[in-house]
Formats: sequence, C-alpha cells, structure tokens
Amino acid sequence: MTQAASPHGADVVCIASWNVDLVSHVPRPLARGETLLAQNFDIGPGGKGSNAAIACARQGARVALVARVGDDDFGRMGLSLWSGEGIDARHVEIAPGERSGVAQILIYPDGDNSIAVAPGAGAGLGARQVEAARATIAGSKVVMASCEVSLEATLAAFRIARVHGVRTLLNPAPARPLPDELLALTDVLTPNETELLTLAGLEGAGLEEGARALLRRGTGAVIATLGTAGCRLWRGDGASLSVPGWRMEAVVDTVGAGDTFTGSLAAALARGETLEDAMRCANAAAALSVTGRGATGGMPSLAGTRALLG
Ligand code: ADP
Repeated sequence: MTQAASPHGADVVCIASWNVDLVSHVPRPLARGETLLAQNFDIGPGGKGSNAAIACARQGARVALVARVGDDDFGRMGLSLWSGEGIDARHVEIAPGERSGVAQILIYPDGDNSIAVAPGAGAGLGARQVEAARATIAGSKVVMASCEVSLEATLAAFRIARVHGVRTLLNPAPARPLPDELLALTDVLTPNETELLTLAGLEGAGLEEGARALLRRGTGAVIATLGTAGCRLWRGDGASLSVPGWRMEAVVDTVGAGDTFTGSLAAALARGETLEDAMRCANAAAALSVTGRGATGGMPSLAGTRALLG
C-alpha cells in the first residue's frame, strides 16, 4: 500500500480527548449533601488524548490533533498548550456555545481519589471531524486514540488508516467493551492489567490468556503496561517479550504514565523503530514521567529518554 502525501505533514494523528483537571485535596470523602473545606486547589491539563499527543510531540514527532473543545477559557487553554508544544491543532473544532470537558478530582490524604468527568464539547467528536482530517490521517504514519473519545470517531479514523497503510494504536482506557471491527482495525493495543482483563471479558484469568483472546479477535499486537513491573508484548505471530520496569528514585506521581507510554510508543513507531525497540523507548519515557508533577510535568524529551536507555 502507498501513503498519500500529506498537505500538513503530521507523523502521528491523535483522535483526542481534552479535559481540564480541577484538583482539590480534601481531608476525607464527602458524605451526600455535605460541604467541606479543601486544603488546596490546582488546575492542570488533562484528557488521555491530549496527554498522549504532548508525550508524542516531546519525543520529536510531528503531531496533529483531531479534537473538539468549547468556546471558553478552558478551550483556549488547550489551544495555547498545544501551540506551545508544537502540536498542529488545525483539526481541533471549537464548538460555539459549548463548554470544554472538565474532570473534577478530589484527592484524599492517602493519595486515593474520586473523579467526575464531564466530557463537554468532546462528547460531540465523531466521524464528521475525522472525515475533515482524512488527508492528514492518510499521509501520517501512526494514528492513535483512547476510549475517552467516541467509538464512532475512532472507527472512522482507523478505517481511513487501514486503507492507507497507516499504523493504528489504541489505548483502551477507560476500559469498555469494544466491537470486533475496532479490535481487528487495531495494530497495537496498550491496556494496563485491569483494562486487558476487562476487555478480554476474562476477569480472574491470566494476562497471557487475556492477550491471546484479544489477538484471536484480530488485534495485531497487545502490549500490557504493568506499572513498576514495566510491560509485556504479545504478537499475533505467537512471539512474546517482557521488558522490566525502571526503578526511579524520585517518584512524584504516576498520573499520565499510561498516556506517556502510548504517546512515546507512537512516536517511536513513526520513526520506524521495531515494535520491540519502540516498547523499550516507551517504557523508559513513561518511567521518567513519574518523576514530575501531574500528567505532563514529567514527560521527557527524546534526548532525556535516550539518556536513560544508555
Ligand atoms: P496506567 O497509568 O495506564 O494504569 P501503568 O500503571 O501500567 O499504566 O503505567 C504505564 C507505564 O508507566 C508502565 O508500563 C511503566 O513503563 C511506567 N511506570 C508506571 N509507574 C511506574 C513507576 N512507579 N516506576 C517506573 N515506571 C513506571
């Protein structure tokens, strides 16, 4: 198959969610009807798609976003963030009269949390916006998505990708049942352990069994991310490979580690690395990401990632 020349020249296209994280630290979970004082409050960028796109751009890839934001301050915050990261946002639709997505996050003293996500304008991202980005997708090397965007949008993008020989990468988070067509259109799936077993419908089974079940449904390769234990790859041809995790000295928080993994994997594949080398690179980038604050604070450059890999 041949790839059409891209008028916009993106290596990676991300079908993306955008949420602003509103984070309050509270002394304990709230009872129904209760008001209590939070100790502090912070606002930060979020949304798995936006996070992965930023990780990917920091690894040196030319990234284009397909997303939908509200015509409000939070939407403008996203546009300014992506511009600062060198991300092409020409396919980001600004929805008049709608609000951008937000995630209201309560963090408890033991680090546990409760989160309510209101996707806002992002809920309206579908096949129409993807279709408008057809030429950019057709000319790219990798298309990535997560389950925070509609199945309709992801399916539309992956269908275009398949026709043009573009690699597809799906981070199936948050986990939800996926149609066989989408699994068959996915070249690389990057679930964490719980997502893998939920997707395979095999709670209580082993990871290997879950991964093999997904491969039988047509996915090209499954890479399970295993937190501090690193990651493991299963390929459709029966091959399998484990890469151990990095022991980082100064872990600040693990927010965005999975998104950094997916975004860095996409960048490495777009550079032409083998799946095995791309996985090692993503594993190192994700390890570095836990040494910085919030989703994007620790996302490394390609040089920083290569320095860790040695
Ligand atoms: P998610 O954040 O989506 O649940 P994981 O917890 O599996 O996903 O983390 C994704 C990747 O981030 C892991 O495969 C690993 O490479 C890296 N990672 C996560 N936590 C740590 C940690 N504490 N130390 C080093 N690497 C980590």
